[in-house]
Amino acid sequence: MNTQPRASHFINGAYVEDEAGVPLDVLNPATGAVIATLHEATPAIVDAALAAATVAQKAWARLMPVERARVLRRASDMIRDRNAELSRLETLDTGKPIQETEVADWPSGADALEYFAGLAPTVTGETVPLGADFAYSLREPLGVCVGIGAWNYPSQIACWKAAPALAMGNAMVFKPSEVTPLGALKLAEILMEAGAPAGLFNVVQGRGGVGAQLVTDARVAKVSLTGSVPTGRKVYAAAAEGIRHVTMELGGKSPLIVFGDADIDSAVGAAMLGNFYSAGQICSNGTRVFVHRSIKEAFLARLKTRAEAIIMGDPLDPATQMGPLVSPEQHAKVMAYVEQAKADGARLITGGGASGAFVQPTVFADVTDGMTLACEEVFGPVMAVLDFEDEDEVVARANATEFGLAAGVFTADLTRAHRVVAALQAGTCWINAYNLTPVESSFGGVKLSGVGRENGKAAIEHYTQLKSVYVGMGPVDAPY
Ligand code: NDP
Repeated sequence: MNTQPRASHFINGAYVEDEAGVPLDVLNPATGAVIATLHEATPAIVDAALAAATVAQKAWARLMPVERARVLRRASDMIRDRNAELSRLETLDTGKPIQETEVADWPSGADALEYFAGLAPTVTGETVPLGADFAYSLREPLGVCVGIGAWNYPSQIACWKAAPALAMGNAMVFKPSEVTPLGALKLAEILMEAGAPAGLFNVVQGRGGVGAQLVTDARVAKVSLTGSVPTGRKVYAAAAEGIRHVTMELGGKSPLIVFGDADIDSAVGAAMLGNFYSAGQICSNGTRVFVHRSIKEAFLARLKTRAEAIIMGDPLDPATQMGPLVSPEQHAKVMAYVEQAKADGARLITGGGASGAFVQPTVFADVTDGMTLACEEVFGPVMAVLDFEDEDEVVARANATEFGLAAGVFTADLTRAHRVVAALQAGTCWINAYNLTPVESSFGGVKLSGVGRENGKAAIEHYTQLKSVYVGMGPVDAPY
């Protein structure tokens, strides 16, 4: 497979290169081999992308919503038709197993394009009766939006941001993570082929500095970031300078609470999905698994057996269930957390080792709230199991974190499930399930995990602004 794109950037409907930009080698995480070499965007490239988006947005916003929808729906169909080839590229770029990327990455992106294509023609304002006069509201696009992506779901993130933005009449300049820059270029190609006008969706490559240039440009109306809390703070502050709209999808340290009456096999399965899928590199992971003392040892025994059966290996092999971490830096960071957990006295149930770029699925039990493993986002396949005794106690401990992205509850008692979910401080909760993020349901965090929402009808509000229009029907009654 040819993994070298025709050029580094996609601007105004075409691939563009500027070799003056700092070279960026793209590595296959499983082997370390260089699979593409790109160049960081120079200021001239950033300027060209924003200029193209500014022009394209005006004409795009004037189209009928069904016309915009048609383009997005076509793009969604094309992604589904090309899923095999796109997923292979995603696997080479991220190291995630092909059995995951074929069902979870581009397919979720296609869902977003299809969903927001369906919503676009339904978005209307309201009429406000005011006696003889009346007012009405219009939901208008924001203008040029900047999307900045993390490396864990690069193509899904690009689609989740582009779909609502474009559906509502905005244009976008997207900067992927420099670690995983390839998928967004494919999305740009596909949107063009589907009939999007040149300049509507542009991709510029680069590290944080390129993102910073985009965020502070006067032409930009909105910034949507998926990334870590420290980056979120910087981007939010930079956007505030120009009073720009923001969506911040940041990190988490989410609780997954397993009560004594839970179906243990389902709870174990969910805890594994919420810690080992994508080698644990998922923001909403349930990385603090609170297990009721009455079932703790049974839970750990089943977890150990199933974790040790996980098949690791070549991500392109359809049998592989877990791949490497995305980069040597991430690998080093995760292994440091493993060593810290050992030093802090957590009980290693399984894993704890590494081989090459891979980290074994790892479970620590007897983790206590103050340990580093229970407080910081690891972003690797490392599960922390904590015990609890009663409901009030576990809710208080689950909420005792600065994050608030997600939370899960496993119990057979429906009343308790809803009571606990109501008390949890998290933007996305699951009952007897974990980490399912269908595009129909909104997703996002509270507290340090972010502001704004992606997906669902809520995303519409984050890519539009309201204009109120007062209509006077009679003579003006002025007191002078
Ligand atoms: P980072 O925060 O390091 O980077 C996110 C993006 O921001 C990258 O494209 C990065 O560029 C860019 N960036 C960095 N500095 C700046 C800056 N000053 N101005 C503008 N852009 C900048 O996150 P990672 O890529 O390491 O991703 C992992 C993090 O993402 C985790 O914390 C995870 O929880 C979070 N995440 C959140 C999700 C959510 O929906 N809530 C989903 C997925 C991940 P570059 O990488 O090239 O430096």
